[in-house]
Amino acid sequence: MTAFDRDLPAVPQIYERSEQGIRDAVRSDGYRNEVAQRHRRRSRLSAVPDDPSISSEREFDVTSALTLPTGNQLASSWPETPPGSQPLPFELDHLLALRVPGLIATRRHIHSHPELSGEEFETAALIARELTLAGLRPRLLPKGNGVICDIDGRPDGPVVALRADIDALPLTDSKDVPYRSTVDGVCHACGHDVHTTVMLGVGMLLAQLADLGELPGRVRLIFQPAEEILPCGSLEVIEAGGLDDVVQIFALHCDPNLPVGQIGLRVGPITAAADNVTVRLTGPGGHTARPHLTVDLVDALGRLITEVPALVSRRVPANSGLLLVFGHASAGTRYNVIPSEACASGTLRVMDRDTWELAPKIVSQVVRDVVAPTGATVDLEYLRGRPPVCNDSRAIQVLTGATAATLGPEGVAETPQSMGGEDFSWYLEYVPGALARLGVGRSGPNVDLHRASFDVDERAIPVGVRLMVQTALRALAAAR
Ligand SMILES: [Zn+2]
Ligand SMILES: [Zn+2]
Repeated sequence: MTAFDRDLPAVPQIYERSEQGIRDAVRSDGYRNEVAQRHRRRSRLSAVPDDPSISSEREFDVTSALTLPTGNQLASSWPETPPGSQPLPFELDHLLALRVPGLIATRRHIHSHPELSGEEFETAALIARELTLAGLRPRLLPKGNGVICDIDGRPDGPVVALRADIDALPLTDSKDVPYRSTVDGVCHACGHDVHTTVMLGVGMLLAQLADLGELPGRVRLIFQPAEEILPCGSLEVIEAGGLDDVVQIFALHCDPNLPVGQIGLRVGPITAAADNVTVRLTGPGGHTARPHLTVDLVDALGRLITEVPALVSRRVPANSGLLLVFGHASAGTRYNVIPSEACASGTLRVMDRDTWELAPKIVSQVVRDVVAPTGATVDLEYLRGRPPVCNDSRAIQVLTGATAATLGPEGVAETPQSMGGEDFSWYLEYVPGALARLGVGRSGPNVDLHRASFDVDERAIPVGVRLMVQTALRALAAAR
């Protein structure tokens, strides 16, 4: 049982009502989600074309579902700090409590307007406007689909970075909630809408602290595009100078396996490395009656996809956790024609950093060894993805202290290494830091990340804000 099971009332369940057709109704004049109102004029994010078929009744249903309780109402039912925790300095908890309804509205707005990796232009514009409203000076990444924002405190202090990823996935949202995706085939199914919202909340609070002259250094907020694809967005951020002068960097990622009020921490690797492997085989083609006169590519492909994964795993230590899995294989179009082309592609994941270094060479050798007897010509494309996220022990100390301050000591949960990849690892190739898992689990069975029905318990948002503010302040203090 966590502090939150005991003490937090649920966010009012105003959004449980079933409402079909909300994809169009978002544009209503009566749309009272303040965040959407702020962004409707200049942003496609909330500018949905006129639709005369939308009835005023339906507009009312939708807008009332998206209308959040007033700050005081929610704040009064939201404990300022759970038992055993420490308040944020300068009454920032009170400011946060007032901001929670707006943050949840922001999350729902971003959730209903997701953008694919590399195309996060409207999301970045929204982030930049929200930060500007908080009195900050955000700057867009060169392509315009990401944001970096420095919060300047004492000029002689260190620089600590906090990163949120902002992209969505190519999935069709299958949830039946008013804030479901308005974009067919695009969905925030990895929780990056929550990461973005948490970091906006952090920006609001730290801007206040900087105004008071109480921020002991500089905090850099990084709103990073393209986490879900290769090449990774983190490399773009690094190239744009995102890590300049940074002494430590932190991030969090939603974890539906942890309840709200728990933060998953781990020293060392917390995600796996993930690379892409594509093998193309070619041969002369021919008649299925005479395979001995040509190269039987379907047979060669079959050997490749069954033998290579098993053999690769025999070339590395068993505890390196290497997993080569082909997700795609294709060859041929007709039952009696031996094709001249075949292709298989998949991912190679590995938990161990040293084995990751060796993986391209091993895969290349094994693929060639397996295919050689078949006579097929091999073209191997090995695309380096991302190393494992390796959490620095001192950065985890900072996060452990921040978690205890945010949630009490029982908020810290040991978390296993996941086989998922995360491009936050590229930052850690340059500066020490750590990724924490933010409990977003809801009561009842939880849906995994990357599933079309994934959703979060929104009470995780203020937890995430508090955690990252505590983290930034502790990291600045430790680095001085
Ligand atoms: Zn993801
Ligand atoms: Zn993710």
